[in-house]
Amino acid sequence: MSITIPKTYDFKSTESQLYQWWEENGWFKPSNEPQKPDFDPARFAKPFVISIPPPNVTGELHLGHAMFVAVEDLMIRYHRMKGDPTLWVPGSDHAGIATQLQVEKELLRTEEVTREELGREKFVERCWEWKRKYGDIIYDQLRRLGASCDWSRERFTLDDGLSRAVREAFVHLYERGLIYRGPRLINWSPGLKTAVSDLEVEYNEEEVTLYYFKYMLKDSTEYIPVATVRPETILGDTAVAVHHDDERYNQFIGRTAIVPMLKREIPVIADATVNREFGTGAVKITPGHDPADYEIAQRAGLSIISLFNKDATLNENAGPYAGQDRFVCRKNLWADMERAGLTIKTEKYVTQIPRSQRGGEIVEPMVSTQWFVKIKPLAEAALAAVKDGVGAERRRIRIVPERFEKVYFNWLDAERIKDWCISRQLWWGHRIPVWYCPDGHMTVGRADPTECATCHSKDIEQDPDVLDTWFSSGLWPFSTLGWPDQTPDLKYFYPTSVMETGYDILFFWVARMIMLGLELTGEAPFHTVYLHGLVRDGDGRKMSKTLGNVID
Ligand SMILES: [Zn+2]
Repeated sequence: MSITIPKTYDFKSTESQLYQWWEENGWFKPSNEPQKPDFDPARFAKPFVISIPPPNVTGELHLGHAMFVAVEDLMIRYHRMKGDPTLWVPGSDHAGIATQLQVEKELLRTEEVTREELGREKFVERCWEWKRKYGDIIYDQLRRLGASCDWSRERFTLDDGLSRAVREAFVHLYERGLIYRGPRLINWSPGLKTAVSDLEVEYNEEEVTLYYFKYMLKDSTEYIPVATVRPETILGDTAVAVHHDDERYNQFIGRTAIVPMLKREIPVIADATVNREFGTGAVKITPGHDPADYEIAQRAGLSIISLFNKDATLNENAGPYAGQDRFVCRKNLWADMERAGLTIKTEKYVTQIPRSQRGGEIVEPMVSTQWFVKIKPLAEAALAAVKDGVGAERRRIRIVPERFEKVYFNWLDAERIKDWCISRQLWWGHRIPVWYCPDGHMTVGRADPTECATCHSKDIEQDPDVLDTWFSSGLWPFSTLGWPDQTPDLKYFYPTSVMETGYDILFFWVARMIMLGLELTGEAPFHTVYLHGLVRDGDGRKMSKTLGNVID
């Protein structure tokens, strides 16, 4: 018998053989295994458990992932060698908008078909194909990195089990009065035709035109000068606001102004937040399309006018400008106002312009009906879990490094925190489990209903929106162990031990897991949060698949 020994060490074949050997012998499984007959929960009271931060299925892993894998594998192997029953739960995230966009792009490129042309059902099937293709690449890469996960417990956020957890969480919160439907100003991406989160909007300094014009007062030749960078939104104004103490304008408070070209009558109001230094010191109020104006309108009880269609063309509220693209309307309206003698001047102006990180086009704030989680009661409990007791030993959750506790407290501060908008206008994700009948009754249930719970109409339709990706990843530490069922895994491995992730998602992910864990399971989902730094590119930007600045 002869063995050929290669002249140089070939890590590729050696490592993959070694990994295969580890995996086949079940050495990544916990030493005390609830799924085996010899399991004895009393033998080791405390297993060591980490739920992997699930990578998105949108592509391949990069250096940033390599770092968290190394840190977590270190902790896992340390505890395994100490003899603790140790479990590292692997899995991946369906990553709503990121995946949907990748699949849409590929469809357009290879088949010249849009998502709408394909239809919802077929499109979702394409997303699943994408997941099967790329999900495996991610898992192979994790294996190549040597990650000693228990692959028999691998989970995906859209799996049947995890989808049932999402349904249970939604219905539970709804029944507790912690989920409601309401109006909200969202960042609308006209190109993607969906709402994008604040996270997905980038603000760039750009030179734009500031338009000065006259807000004529009713039955008068007097006017209030106002400046705007978005003249087309004049058509949606519902007030002109000035500061109480501004002697140039405060004599006009309570009078009526006339919307240019539309001749609609609106009030002149006072508001303390008006910045007297900006532009002319008087401002137009467009609550339907500006977050600050929306707040003012809430305080003053102003009506809200929505101006745009989903593709950012003007709707019927724009009168003669209906159907025009927002930028075409801007030109036409301004030309008409010039002819009517309502313009004053234009000047160049540098300001922050919000653009969609993924689509690149200017984001338009719009009012729409969305689903929300009432966050304050959940945030209070999550604050207490980190604050309570004296010293690290007594707290239920400890954050390392400690300086991030302050960041966490700021995020969850009752004065600051806003209700969580959980609906997204996408197809790839957990569809909202609410059905509507023609009379507008809502039916919410753990199982798909066949009729309206109120009037028993069979004519019911499910809400077309899906849930924010963070809603399902917020359940990750317990949904991956079988919750809502009291499985042997859940009983033994939950609460988990350490949550290790990047500091940039302390609020978006970690805080949500703590809030939902406390509410749904009655326990903090882990005792320690360990935050690592981010691997950045040469320009200091976080590496991300969407930015395309990653190193595999
Ligand atoms: Zn009904």
